[in-house]
Amino acid sequence: MEIPSIIIAIDGYSSTGKSSFAKLIAKEFGFTYLDSGALYRAVTLFAQENGLISGDNVISPALEKALEGLELHFDSSNRTFIGDRCVETEIRSMPVSSQVSPISALAYVRRFVDDILHRCAASRRVVMDGRDIGVTVFPDAEVKIFMTADPIVRARRRFDEMALKGQNPVMEEVLENLRRRDEIDSHREVSPLARAADSYLLDNSEMTIGEEVAWLKGIIQGKFGILE
Ligand code: C5P
Repeated sequence: MEIPSIIIAIDGYSSTGKSSFAKLIAKEFGFTYLDSGALYRAVTLFAQENGLISGDNVISPALEKALEGLELHFDSSNRTFIGDRCVETEIRSMPVSSQVSPISALAYVRRFVDDILHRCAASRRVVMDGRDIGVTVFPDAEVKIFMTADPIVRARRRFDEMALKGQNPVMEEVLENLRRRDEIDSHREVSPLARAADSYLLDNSEMTIGEEVAWLKGIIQGKFGILE
């Protein structure tokens, strides 16, 4: 199927499988995948490692200043880098997951990440996942999807993912972390998690990833009048 040069924006709750879905679409369509959550996670790791978080409080003017010297990018395997250091494992750890939502609620952090996303998406043919892509970052994205799934299903998926990486997760903690992040992400002042009015809703509680891709192909075919 010949896909036009478009931006596909995927937003939704934590652990709804946005990134697995987006990666598979990128592969199938020959698009670039951009993981905006990874950038917020990398900023959080950077703040933690540089003593810019005290307890639960971000040391704000210092972090804002420090971001001027922070270089983040992805390699061709979608791994996240701070400068020349791959931080893919560290950014998925529980300490980062616990502090990423307050950090990503800061307006200057959002501006920092949005700039990177806009630069990377200059050529279009991009699929991006996050919380505010369809509403704020790329309101002109041609295809917007909003993903949701049952919280227990989501926690189980995150648990399995962490267990597979040997991280010894505790189910109650994983579920609590998801709830807390959804709560903060949905209620923050700047750019809260929100469903774009022109988005397609995808509840994948009982879908396989193959069914999700087939669903999206159907939408794109219909929208752009593409025959198989
Ligand atoms: O997608 P992921 O779960 O890795 O995102 C980590 C966190 O980054 C989210 O819980 C949210 O606080 C923040 N985020 C955001 N806006 C985005 C993507 C992620 O605020 N576009």
